[in-house]
Amino acid sequence: MILSGCINDSLRKDDRMENMSTSKRIIKTFYIESLGCAKNSVDSRSMAELLDMAGYEEHSKALDSDLIIVNTCGFIQPAREESLQVLRDFAREKRPGQFLIAAGCLGEREKQQLAAQVDGLDAVLGTRRWADIVSVVEKLRQPGESPYFYFPPTEKIVESDQPIVRAALQGSSAYLKIADGCDRSCAFCAIPLIKGPMFSRPIPEILADAQALADAGAKELILIAQDTTAYGRDLGLKDGLAVLLRELSGSVPHIPWVRVMYTFPGMHAQPLIELMAADNNILPYLDMPLQHAHPAVLKRMRRLSDMGWVRDTIGKFRQAIPDVALRTTFIVGFPGETEAEFQELLDFTAEMRFDHVGIFPYYHEADTPAFLLEDSVSPEVKEERIQRLAALQEEISRSRNEEWVGREMDVLIEGIGDGISVGRSFRDAPEIDGLVLLDEVLAEGDLVRVQVSSALTHDLIAHRV
Ligand code: SF4
Repeated sequence: MILSGCINDSLRKDDRMENMSTSKRIIKTFYIESLGCAKNSVDSRSMAELLDMAGYEEHSKALDSDLIIVNTCGFIQPAREESLQVLRDFAREKRPGQFLIAAGCLGEREKQQLAAQVDGLDAVLGTRRWADIVSVVEKLRQPGESPYFYFPPTEKIVESDQPIVRAALQGSSAYLKIADGCDRSCAFCAIPLIKGPMFSRPIPEILADAQALADAGAKELILIAQDTTAYGRDLGLKDGLAVLLRELSGSVPHIPWVRVMYTFPGMHAQPLIELMAADNNILPYLDMPLQHAHPAVLKRMRRLSDMGWVRDTIGKFRQAIPDVALRTTFIVGFPGETEAEFQELLDFTAEMRFDHVGIFPYYHEADTPAFLLEDSVSPEVKEERIQRLAALQEEISRSRNEEWVGREMDVLIEGIGDGISVGRSFRDAPEIDGLVLLDEVLAEGDLVRVQVSSALTHDLIAHRV
């Protein structure tokens, strides 16, 4: 094992020597591995588009390509570990003359450590300057130091000045980025540190992207940002998200579904309620990550702690739109969380009966405000609380699903096989919520009317009407 490790090490050094010679610096093709969230997927597709415009050709297999780009995630420990492992695997497997770039959040957060931990890395590009991917690749084609670090001083994310679509189309659904960065200071969150302050994309650019996605066959637009309800503040817009949604709804009425993710509690909710209640393509789906329900924990998290506002607002959504789908996320085991505080989270979850809940343990992340607190809840207690909360929510999710048995809904077909089709309804965002299963083979991208015949914990079984 040791001998083989030495041989591999020496081979990798030889590869680097070859990479540094001018004769081997041929880069015509590239492959991008996108890790982490949908926001990263959008940046990955935008980097691919920029490289394509510059004459590079995208390949679907990493090891066939001259260049491998890993768009990393650096938000929490498991995501960092996954990014590091993927980079190390590519670095170990890459052939002589092949180049490896670490882009994205992990590079932004841990530049030097990353280079030290991944032997064979050729360049590191931070998430704030993803739009400069072509110049980083051009730089790699020249002899120079390895790894090459590209981090010009940048307070905010710098968008591309090229006319590219800031979206990731997957099947007939497209994640469309409307803003990035974040001005908030939630105590557990490293995003403001990584991405810097918020900036919003101008409405005309978003509308042009939506039209391009409609032309490409998108049936669903999923608007994403770190905090969608803050959209437009930096542009001087009041109720910017509502302004954008009105324009979007008018400009692409032929896209049947427009979904909004990542709203922030405390927002001015009435315009959003009215838009979701109106007869338009804005889906009645509210994704509002609350993170906790005990005011003291929320204060320690530096988030809105007015649970009266939360109850009142959810009540208003439900009164105006009885079928509105509610999704939230909770963090369990935040520093100092007592059993009584956790019990209040359980009670609140039982009271609110959300359709979907994402549950995460607290991760003690360096350089976040919460890192100054003691990570006082043990991993065992975090896990035990997660299990209790998950068991409660499973009962609720199943009961919410059962309320749909016998009712009709539209389903967007996303996959087929073995005599069945799999899709989603307005109640389900891709990857994180449930599915609807149909006992016949339909075409991917079809939007069909179904009647629900039975309910599972997360999914529904239905037939076409
Ligand atoms: S709103 Fe809070 S949790 Fe969300 S990205 Fe900003 S700081 Fe992080």
